[in-house]
Amino acid sequence: MTGYDVVVVGGGPAGTMTAKWAAKGGAKVLIVEKRQEIGAPVRCGEGISRSWLDGVGIKLDQKSVACQVKGAKIVAPNGTPFFLSEKMAGNEVGIVLDRIFFDKLLAHDAVKAGADLMLKTSATGLLRTGGKVTGVKIRSFGETKEIKAGCVVGADGFESQVGRWAGISTSLAPRDITSCIQYRLTNINYDPNYCEFVLGSKAPGGYIWIFPKNEDTANVGIGMQLTKLKDRADVKKYLDKFIQNDPRLKKGKPLEIVAGAVSICAPLDKTVGDGILLVGDAARQIDPITGGGISNSCRAGKVAGEVLAKATKERDFSERSLERYEKGWRDLMENHLYRNWMAKEKLVTLSDETFNKIISALNEVGVEKMSTFAILKAIETKYPDLVREFHDLL
Ligand SMILES: Cc1cc2nc3c(=O)[nH]c(=O)nc-3n(C[C@H](O)[C@H](O)[C@H](O)COP(=O)(O)OP(=O)(O)OC[C@H]3O[C@@H](n4cnc5c(N)ncnc54)[C@H](O)[C@@H]3O)c2cc1C
Repeated sequence: MTGYDVVVVGGGPAGTMTAKWAAKGGAKVLIVEKRQEIGAPVRCGEGISRSWLDGVGIKLDQKSVACQVKGAKIVAPNGTPFFLSEKMAGNEVGIVLDRIFFDKLLAHDAVKAGADLMLKTSATGLLRTGGKVTGVKIRSFGETKEIKAGCVVGADGFESQVGRWAGISTSLAPRDITSCIQYRLTNINYDPNYCEFVLGSKAPGGYIWIFPKNEDTANVGIGMQLTKLKDRADVKKYLDKFIQNDPRLKKGKPLEIVAGAVSICAPLDKTVGDGILLVGDAARQIDPITGGGISNSCRAGKVAGEVLAKATKERDFSERSLERYEKGWRDLMENHLYRNWMAKEKLVTLSDETFNKIISALNEVGVEKMSTFAILKAIETKYPDLVREFHDLL
């Protein structure tokens, strides 16, 4: 097999966006994906906002959109809701995707731009020459092969191995991991106009989400900070208890169950090396408060692809050349990720009583948009005591 300028490991949103923009810029690109189908099985709540899609060149087709919501509903532990219109919640909600089609759409765009795609093909290690990464070992339909590449991209998701193989530290402390479980619950009686987030001790160190797929079906899931779990199986018990106690959901039956994890850490120190680059969940680019990672994967993927296209033209895949990606993605989101990580560190310590007060304060003062800063600022004007702990973030 001849070599490629860029081999992308992982055919999720981060990988296919990187591949698309690199191929568009003239790079010879291969994506290797270990699963037999792009997008399946889905391990995601599928909630996104609309605000970033144009910026990365994604035109959603009908099949990729399961449901469009009017906004977000944030529910206090005592049941008090706070409603945010989509305009206000625009950074967080708007669309519930069908990721099977969404991921395929992105893969289609990458292939259309010229990338090759191999399914049922796992990366099993890296090739190196004199300390530089020069390619990847793969296993495809029982055969082992070596593929030379100017740059290998680790877009292999939360469980990423590529970074580790390259000697880039991506390990996570237990407090920086959220363990999740989700049902696609059908036969429910839920208002499909809102994505719902339930806070407090019903989901210690995280939250419960209800993201509607249609009139009687929704993704109902829970994420809990790993350190709050005595046993990993507890996360399911918390979710089951919530569903049983919610009259809208208790007659629901699961069509699907997914378990997974998301990183809720501070940004990594380093995401590039000689001939290597990490993107998406593999680069820990998930928002530490919401656990949302699709938009950041796509936005960082575009930056990565553009930098790789330039590196291809210059025939320079050194760490120095790839630092343009490091700078690019950090300019876009590092500050936000860091602030939300700091806010998360405080949020996981709050009592139900404090969450109740925050939601009732929000109902009184209102808020312009769903960002940590906007929420804290709004509350501070009337209840400075409530946000004292978050003073560093203001
Ligand atoms: C339960 C849950 C709910 C979530 N809900 C939301 C949500 O509502 N909104 C949101 O924005 N985000 C959500 N996320 C996060 C979101 O799913 C991820 O941020 C997003 O999928 C990241 O894209 P990615 O391309 O980096 O990784 P992935 O989508 O995980 O893609 C990685 C790909 O790499 C492949 N791969 C791995 N190892 C190899 C290998 N060795 N060789 C070849 N291929 C390999 C995998 O098969 C996979 O296809 C959720 C996550 C979980 C777990």
